[in-house]
Amino acid sequence: MKTCLVVDDSKVIRKVARHILETLDFTVSEACDGREALQACMASMPDVILLDWNMPVMSGMDFLRALREADVPRRAKVVFCTTENGMAYIRAAIEAGADEYVMKPFDRETLESKLQIVGMA
Ligand SMILES: [Mg+2]
Repeated sequence: MKTCLVVDDSKVIRKVARHILETLDFTVSEACDGREALQACMASMPDVILLDWNMPVMSGMDFLRALREADVPRRAKVVFCTTENGMAYIRAAIEAGADEYVMKPFDRETLESKLQIVGMA
């Protein structure tokens, strides 16, 4: 089974994402900020990470940079979630190592199509 780590400080978003991902046959785990997510990845790297941008403690961008600098055996796909649709944000995230992005609020079809793009659905 494919694994997905949902990283978001919103419990509601995590719950919605989990529900969608489980219908797509993912085994889902959750983290509520970047630091928690980094610890989870070091313990067990998921296949794909759904990553929020704005979070307390450690932002999605800081997490992404740390993840891409970390010495890990395999590279997780990262789909970052944003309410910002500015190209500057998207470009910065791609440069930092994101594979795709999805706008909030997302639905099942949108998320599935993004996961297909990164080869995960
Ligand atoms: Mg947030």
